[in-house]
Amino acid sequence: MRLSRFFLPILKETPKEAEIVSHRLMLRAGMIRQQAAGIYSWLPLGKRVLDKVSAIIREEQNRAGALELLMPVIQSADLWRESGRYDDYGKEMLRIQDRHERDLLFGPTNEEMVTEIFRSYVRSYKDLPLNLYHIQWKFRDEVRPRFGVMRSREFLMKDAYSFDLDYESSKTAYDRMFVAYLRTFARLGVHAIPMRADTGPIGGELSHEFIILASTGESAVFCHKDFLELQVPGEDVDFDDAAGLASIVERWTAPYAATEEMHDEAAWEALPDDEKVSARGIEVGHIFHFGTKYSEPMKALVTGPDGKEQPVFMGSYGIGPSRVIAAIIEASHDENGIIWPASVAPFDVGLINMKPGDADCDRICDELYARLGAAGQHVLYDDGDTRAGAKFATMDLIGLPLQVIVGPRGAKSGEVELKWRKTGERETLSLDAALNRIGGA
Ligand code: ATP
Ligand code: MG
Repeated sequence: MRLSRFFLPILKETPKEAEIVSHRLMLRAGMIRQQAAGIYSWLPLGKRVLDKVSAIIREEQNRAGALELLMPVIQSADLWRESGRYDDYGKEMLRIQDRHERDLLFGPTNEEMVTEIFRSYVRSYKDLPLNLYHIQWKFRDEVRPRFGVMRSREFLMKDAYSFDLDYESSKTAYDRMFVAYLRTFARLGVHAIPMRADTGPIGGELSHEFIILASTGESAVFCHKDFLELQVPGEDVDFDDAAGLASIVERWTAPYAATEEMHDEAAWEALPDDEKVSARGIEVGHIFHFGTKYSEPMKALVTGPDGKEQPVFMGSYGIGPSRVIAAIIEASHDENGIIWPASVAPFDVGLINMKPGDADCDRICDELYARLGAAGQHVLYDDGDTRAGAKFATMDLIGLPLQVIVGPRGAKSGEVELKWRKTGERETLSLDAALNRIGGA
């Protein structure tokens, strides 16, 4: 992509309304635009990151055996009357009427709707286990939308729903998602710690929040330092091996970890001081096992091997891709801007032509752009005529992992400079050596 043809509305001033660094940087880097309180447009740079984050989440859901569908954002109030949550959900739910004065709502979550789909088609234990997910916009009329997309009113969520015959198998479904979440967050380049959690209005008895440690996190968290070194399960993890999954979950829930609400002062005090990590955290994922809370009132029944009908056991599993992006930035930035983990960067390489119009610079940049592109690298090529200092500042701000800088002096002798955003490390190489190094030869 040539920057001259891209839409990257960089802000020079630091926006006053932004209280935390991720919000400031997302606005300054032209990733998002606020349209109303807690409601944002995703501009092209932000959209590329959102798509990358969603793609990783999708791959790991699929790997764990979940099936993607897409449910609508508008739901019928009647469904929620069936589960009894229409009144319970309160003011966070945006209630709407259509022209026939039928009560509708903008979905804050999808337990009811997915249960309705399930009960319409599935009758037998032979069709289980089943896990259905979608990645869809949600609306919650938060009391205090703030921190940009970190706590917005409209936000993207991946929500998965598992269906099983009994407690035992639904616990395995829970473990599958738990392990998928460990892998997902590791691939997103963040360290997320599972913590015992309160189940809130979703209900149920078993629940974990996945928390990224960051000083701007909204809740205080307490955990054992062992979490910082635990090994994340590899790609080869067997999602059909119930015992194997349970032992991974066991390992990841054994050390102490709790959010403020679930904190057990006595258990905490029993830990040696040098093993305690007391910090602030951002909730990026939340998984619940709630058994028959919805299937019972909504009559989602399955026949077991004994021929008896019974309510299906369920769990739900959420990740907010839009909040995750803000959390990644909170965890990975410096005074010059964002530092994207390679897996979610909007482009892999930023190519800077320091002197467009100079024959050598143009020729080398064109060749780099073509060959890197042919090798599958996504390149943002700054071919504009702003001054070099502004180009460097923009590249640092938008945080691409690698910059390739082509100036007239080097270009004459066929050399370019590489700069790694994260370490600031620089290297001058010949064109071919640079292409080799980047993987674009
Ligand atoms: P919180 O406790 O932060 O209000 P929640 O417990 O209400 O969140 P869940 O219902 O567990 O949220 O939603 C699943 C995921 O959706 C969360 O882990 C988070 O990543 C995301 N999410 C929830 N609310 C918001 C929001 N207002 N803005 C952005 N993302 C959100
Ligand atoms: Mg939650």
